[in-house]
Amino acid sequence: MALLEGKIGLICGVANRHSIAWAVAQAWRDAGAALVFTYQDERHCRNVQELLAGLPHESVLCPCDVTNDADIDATYKVIAEKYGRLDFLLHSVAFAPRKALEGSFIQTSREDFCVTHDVSAYSLVALSRGAVPLMTSGGSMLSISYYGAEKVVPNYNVMGPAKASLEASVRYLACDLGPRNIRINCISAGPVSTLAARGIKGFQDILSQHAACAPLRRNVKAEEVGAAATFLVSDAASAITGQVLYVDCGYNVMGV
Ligand code: NAD
Repeated sequence: MALLEGKIGLICGVANRHSIAWAVAQAWRDAGAALVFTYQDERHCRNVQELLAGLPHESVLCPCDVTNDADIDATYKVIAEKYGRLDFLLHSVAFAPRKALEGSFIQTSREDFCVTHDVSAYSLVALSRGAVPLMTSGGSMLSISYYGAEKVVPNYNVMGPAKASLEASVRYLACDLGPRNIRINCISAGPVSTLAARGIKGFQDILSQHAACAPLRRNVKAEEVGAAATFLVSDAASAITGQVLYVDCGYNVMGV
């Protein structure tokens, strides 16, 4: 039997075929899960619809701007009506205004700081809370972080504190959700060339630096993040919660 056979997963964060969320979706689908997808807005809807059209089984698709509680409620209502339960949640969502991803961190405006933390960190709390009533037989949640949460990465700026908040939220949520047998973890992924990543000034330099310095001397592939995501939500990881798993070709262990 496939690892996730008979399970139902919610995937938040597919923008296009390069998205980390799409790599995770493919891995979860290959492992046998049925999937529900959200998209941010009409601009992303067509892309996601085209991707889903290529899948062998029909997938459920819901609009969900994660800053909008009504959208989150509506998404879980659709899942409740269609399946009556949920096993996994992928939160693969982040945003910072472009001007905040270049120059000095000290110049970050209050507004840019707030919107970045709202979309990139608080949304995990809101999405998790909505998922709990549907995870009646336990469940597993997963978010995607980056090394900029703990070390300074040029131009990552306000996204660094937002990822630090995301990782701390994973630990606090793990404590709240553990008694319900719901696990939550995050993957700290090495750099992958995606729409969001290309918004960071000098992202190509980050890619080259990682490939040159990581013990494996290369960058991670999105499908490797998908494989780790499958492990983390599967029963093989049944005692793992509140963790940050590095899927970065080992980059984080290097000093110099
Ligand atoms: P991406 O652009 O493909 O995905 C980002 C997603 O966030 C998009 O689908 C976008 O629609 C969604 N989003 C943004 N604002 C939203 C909102 N208000 N409501 C709903 N959705 C919203 O880029 P990606 O690199 O696949 O990013 C996915 C996650 O992976 C992010 O959390 C990112 O920080 C993280 N990450 C990326 C890298 C990398 O190098 N690409 C490395 C480590 C972590």
